[in-house]
Amino acid sequence: MIDDDENLPNRSEGISGYHKIDRYNPELIQNLSTHYEGVLSQIGEDPTREGLLKTPERVAKALLYLTHGYDLDARQILNSAMFKEEYSQMVVVKDIEVYSMCEHHMLPFFGKAHVAYIPNGHVVGLSKIPRVVDVFARRLQVQERLTNEIRDCIQDTLQPLGVGVVIECRHLCMSMRGVQKQNSVTTTSAFTGEFLEDKTRTEFLNLIAAKLS
Ligand SMILES: [Zn+2]
Repeated sequence: MIDDDENLPNRSEGISGYHKIDRYNPELIQNLSTHYEGVLSQIGEDPTREGLLKTPERVAKALLYLTHGYDLDARQILNSAMFKEEYSQMVVVKDIEVYSMCEHHMLPFFGKAHVAYIPNGHVVGLSKIPRVVDVFARRLQVQERLTNEIRDCIQDTLQPLGVGVVIECRHLCMSMRGVQKQNSVTTTSAFTGEFLEDKTRTEFLNLIAAKLS
């Protein structure tokens, strides 16, 4: 995983080797930096003062990191780690960290995703579920679409008996501006197959509400 944004422009092997990242090239960073320099001037700042000298470049690299999901293929990630298994009970991965950016304000929204599926002959490596969440979250998003994209990706690829996705996020565009409802959390959900049945959906919702003791 990329954890040091200062190194991004020099990476050529891509994130975890899944996909080459052509977007982190010096020319792109330079172009974006020029735009951000203009933005600084427009808001009344002096882009030549010491504290801001490297800011346009840092913001450019940060933005590319925050949107690196465009370079990744979630279906390919799942396909690479699917295997036959007769297990047919619900598999739940809960409390997956979500960091995304709303497409209306380009401000962060963040929280947790809970994902479940009921295998139909195939399971997937557990670590791939959070990766799928990340691939779709690291783009400009709305929470509703993010929820559906995760559901559809797992449904189409793994073809399980059902998928359930619940996402709970705080949106900085709500808490930092406008209505300033500081503590409000937005919850979205999407289901397929057996999760459309009350009994299965309730079991899933109970499991994600339960605390490990
Ligand atoms: Zn927004």
